[in-house]
Order: sequence, then C-alpha cells, then structure tokens
Amino acid sequence: MKALLLKGIRDVALEEVPVASVGPHDVKIRNKRGLLCGTDHSQYVGTFTPPGEYPFFIGHEISGIVEEVGTQVQDIKPGQMVVANPVLYCNECYRCRNGQQHFCEKLIDLWKPTGGFSEYMVVNRQQVFAIPEGITLDQAAFAEPVSVCLHCIDMANMKPGMSVAIIGAGPIGLLLLQLAIRSGAALTLVSEPVESKRDLARKLGADVVVDPTNEDIMQKAFDVSKNRGFDVVIEASGNEKAAMDAYNITGMKSTLFFFAVYPIELTLPISPFIMYYKEMTIKAVFFSPYSFPRAINMLPKLELDALITHHLPLEKAADVFELHETGEPVKIMIEC
Ligand SMILES: [Zn+2]
Ligand SMILES: [Zn+2]
Repeated sequence: MKALLLKGIRDVALEEVPVASVGPHDVKIRNKRGLLCGTDHSQYVGTFTPPGEYPFFIGHEISGIVEEVGTQVQDIKPGQMVVANPVLYCNECYRCRNGQQHFCEKLIDLWKPTGGFSEYMVVNRQQVFAIPEGITLDQAAFAEPVSVCLHCIDMANMKPGMSVAIIGAGPIGLLLLQLAIRSGAALTLVSEPVESKRDLARKLGADVVVDPTNEDIMQKAFDVSKNRGFDVVIEASGNEKAAMDAYNITGMKSTLFFFAVYPIELTLPISPFIMYYKEMTIKAVFFSPYSFPRAINMLPKLELDALITHHLPLEKAADVFELHETGEPVKIMIEC
C-alpha cells in the first residue's frame, strides 16, 4: 500500500509499504479521509516525536470503511464506516482502572503510529468506533479532534451563561468555539491574526473577534466583558505571545487552558500573586479519555465541512506540511 512516512525531521515521503497482517482482535480499515492535525506538524518539525525509531507512519484523524476483521471480532463488519482512536490502552494497569486510561502505564509500548495518510490501517478492535448513518466520511474524520475538545470542555467547569475566550482560530479553536456555544456560553471572543479565520469564527457564532497583531486584545476583552475578564480562556495556538494574551484576559474564578503542543523549552512569566488574587485555575489537555462516543454523537451538531479549507489526494500528501505552514488552511483533508 501507499503510505506517507516521516523519515526524519522535515523529511516525509509517500512510499510503498506492506500492509500489516490482521490478528484475531484486529480490524483492517480502508482509509478514506485523513485530516492534518497540529500534532502531526509537531512530529514533522521534531518538537514532539513518537517513541521508537524513524520512519513513522503519520496522520491520526481518519475515517474509512472496514475491509476485514479478525476471527475474534464479532460486532464490527466489513463495509461499515468507522473511525479509529490512534492510541491503544492496556485496560489492566493502575491508571487504566483509575479513570486515567490516557496515561496508561503501557502507552509507550502500545503506541504504534498506524498512519492515517495511507491506504490501509490495521488497529485493535478496542480503537474502532462505528459511525452511524447520516454522517459523511469528511465529517467522521473529525471524531478524534472533537473528542479531545470535548475533554477540554469537560475540564473547563463551564456553566451556561459564562464567558469564553479562545485564542487561535485553527481547527481546535473553531471546534472549541462551537462546543462552548452549545454548552451555553453567553459571550464568546476569538483572537486570531489571519483575517479569513476571523471571518470563519464570526460565521460560526463568535460574538467578538480580535486581530491580536493590530488590536489591543486586553482592552477589547475587558471592554466587551464589562471589565470582568473571561470566565474560561482557552489558548489553542501554541504561540508564546498568545499564551500571555490568554493569561492576561482571565477574570475572577477563571479557568485558563493551554491546549497546544508548545516548544518544550518555553516558560511563561505567570504570577502566583495574580492567580491567588483571581482564584485562577490553570489546566491543560493531553489526550481524550472516554470521549469518543460523545464526540461521535456531537458530529451532526457541529459545522465541520466549513473547517475543511483544502483537499489533497494521497499522492500529494507530502506537500501537506508546507501548505500548513502558510498559516492559511484551517483543516487540510487528504483523500486516501
Ligand atoms: Zn489530532
Ligand atoms: Zn493501562
């Protein structure tokens, strides 16, 4: 099969590789759609690499059709539309049995990138979720990023009537915006330097948009919130200045979220006094435990097609990272 391989830092190529064999508990998926995620780009530039040796398969936000199932798989059938959680948990260790499966003690051993930007993927049944009728392949590919965003909303202590600010209108920011509105946010602000993304945020329901390069975000955020600051602020850009913007527009009793893969050496000048004075909580999101089923339920309730700004065939998959770096795309979809 053809698969996009990450062969080193900034080194990708589409190559012919053998398809993995199907074990008794496995499902072989004919990948149909793969979305580029910011984490894929972090792997490409080397800020975050999977355990093990190059080359790695790359891409993890997929949808496809079941091609074959192992002898022990009863409830998933060939021909069904499915998505796959990129990670496999042992379900036996302390953390798996203590509500923290995304910190599974065997995660590093079990984590074998299977490759969304390829013709086939063979994964354990445990990773596979069936997609109900009425959802398209394009929309289904969003199950993974929506699941991570749901985990963030779960942790944000959001209540109807709260104010929510999102820094960065990439795919995560725009999914979080929609989930925050559907969770009852009464005032939403999105900060984003790219004009087309600010326009999209407005179309998706943002009450206020800010251009952080040409506007004073603190002044605007405090003006529109009647000098209160925001109850929930989610930084979803990975940018250092944006991280400080997020911190600076928090209100009393606020929750500040860091939702991006930041450079490992980055530190921020955050004041414990301000945290004390505001009773501020700071949180972050790593993976999405237990949230795939609810993410799939939410797919028909979200504007997903509007987030796909570029379509590429698998043959052009190696170009996807340079396209991402122009800053213009929201979500790039690869048709496998
Ligand atoms: Zn992702
Ligand atoms: Zn475990």
